Amino acid sequence: NPFVRARYLLSAHNHKQLPPDGAFEVAFAGRSNAGKSSALNALCQQNALARVSKTPGRTQQLVFFDMTPPEVEPPRYLVDLPGYGYAKVPQDLQAHWQAFIDQYFRTREALKGLVVVMDIRHPLKDYDRQMLGYAVERGLPAHALLTKADKLGRGQQSQALHTVKRELFSAFGDTVSVQAFSGESKQGVDEARAVVAGWLGL
Ligand code: GDP
Repeated sequence: NPFVRARYLLSAHNHKQLPPDGAFEVAFAGRSNAGKSSALNALCQQNALARVSKTPGRTQQLVFFDMTPPEVEPPRYLVDLPGYGYAKVPQDLQAHWQAFIDQYFRTREALKGLVVVMDIRHPLKDYDRQMLGYAVERGLPAHALLTKADKLGRGQQSQALHTVKRELFSAFGDTVSVQAFSGESKQGVDEARAVVAGWLGL
């Protein structure tokens, strides 16, 4: 499992602070509290990996984790995008963040795919659709994790999955895939790893 190698690399607050654009990277987006940190931790089998993304002052930065296997080039990164839609952020910071994310999605050659983490009980909010839209416009594949699946029974899970699948297909076509997930029970962790590893060529 190449994900267990993941280590904090750096946080970028603007374009100049990004690592050189020759890597392979996959970005993770999600509204605050959706369960993105827990999902990253579960994928990487580390309890506190994504905690760094939540330290005050880092909440408006792109946080890079390096999971490059030995003797592999170019580097392989996971990128934690700032959570959004919950915490109150001052207007000017919001505009700065928006412009940064915008530019990142439009120009970043290293970006190979997007994972959007959504609470299975509250999927496809505006922010989620916006992020998926960015990826699809660029022709990048996206994968939706419907997390906290442990909060629902099997029947409700498959119903939610079915509804989201249908909505994603009608909004974005077949470049967006979706699965049920739980950082708590680890349901769907292997499936999610396979998708991300595939994009990273690992
Ligand atoms: P983030 O803000 O998107 O990074 O969300 P966190 O990963 O910090 O999770 C927010 C809250 O949801 C925390 O209280 C977590 O314990 C809880 N949580 C996250 N993932 C799951 C999950 O898969 N199942 C359950 N039951 N709770 C979860």
